[in-house]
Amino acid sequence: MEQAEKCMRVPANTLDRGFAMYQREFEEKALEVLRSGRYVLGGEVSAFEEEFAGYVGSRHCVGLASGLDALWIAFRILGIGAGDEVLVQGNTYIASVMGITINGATPVFVEPDAYFNLDAARLEEKITERTKAILVVHLYGQASRMDEIMKIAEKYRLRVVEDCAQSHGAKFHGRTTGTFGDIGCFSFYPSKNLGAFGDAGAIVTDDGRIAEDVRVFRNYGSEKRYYNKVVGANSRLDELQAGLLRVRLSHLEELEAGRREICDRYLRELDREKFELPGIREGATHIWHQFVIRSKRRDELKRYLEDKGIGTIIHYPIPPHLSEAYRYLGFREGSFPVTEEYAKTVLSLPLYYGMTEEEQNYVIRWMNRF
Ligand SMILES: *Cc1c(COP(=O)(O)O)cnc(C)c1O
Repeated sequence: MEQAEKCMRVPANTLDRGFAMYQREFEEKALEVLRSGRYVLGGEVSAFEEEFAGYVGSRHCVGLASGLDALWIAFRILGIGAGDEVLVQGNTYIASVMGITINGATPVFVEPDAYFNLDAARLEEKITERTKAILVVHLYGQASRMDEIMKIAEKYRLRVVEDCAQSHGAKFHGRTTGTFGDIGCFSFYPSKNLGAFGDAGAIVTDDGRIAEDVRVFRNYGSEKRYYNKVVGANSRLDELQAGLLRVRLSHLEELEAGRREICDRYLRELDREKFELPGIREGATHIWHQFVIRSKRRDELKRYLEDKGIGTIIHYPIPPHLSEAYRYLGFREGSFPVTEEYAKTVLSLPLYYGMTEEEQNYVIRWMNRF
């Protein structure tokens, strides 16, 4: 019986399907940009900025070269650096933390809640007189508990920066992530839900002064050519990426709907006795950047699935406080038990645009036979 069953390979992720779905449109746009003779900060970039600001419901969007740039430039523009502390969840992707430390500020880790996001109930105990901001990461695509977080930020007059690299369009009580705090930071790295074909990022804000400062900063601190106001960076979004992002953005709603269908199936059909499936917070929406389950036998499960031809990824095996890069912060194993427990038990199942029903069946079948 078993032998008669078809063998398949289901990768953890594959980006070619998402390209194939709108191939003609992507190719036409690429040619249009190549033939235009304008490659940096032109009409495609300003059109994308306007469309993306509209998509999230923000007044301004400024295109940048990457998500990490969006983060560190956000803190730079807010004047947060050496001697300042920024609260951030312990179980995030390390880029969130780098966005803080590139400016010389100190990350103060907070344990995550049951939804893998910042545990708002544990925020207040970490606040000191040096605390200047909260970096909220809407991890895996689900909006964080923004009502509680904003209440605490207002009480202590803290800045709020949102890391929306995984949450394009995810909402909390109807409001899109990235629009709650002072600045929302986005990545359009190819594997993100709104992905470019190379590196790209952006910030969104309702504050016109912040938008203008970022706009100047991204282009060597110059407003007018060869007149430099501040020491800035080269973090420009290029025309090709902006044009291709416009194509993807115009289809994002149908793409997200397809992703939701796959994850609804996972939620309905995977065996809850065997795995801890992801929960959705009341009032929050999830755009399923990753479908993350938890298992005490995670490493064994990963090897078993590999053996069946099914790829999975661990997001993330080493929490930032235990990584070599942040050894200088002086943390050790046991410093953040919830964060560390997640690092040992999480597993992201195959999920990508254009995943077939047959591929989903295959994953569900072998998962449930574990
Ligand atoms: C991808 C990602 C980033 C960094 O974005 P890049 O465009 O790769 O620099 C930052 N934070 C989170 C949570 C991410 O997932």
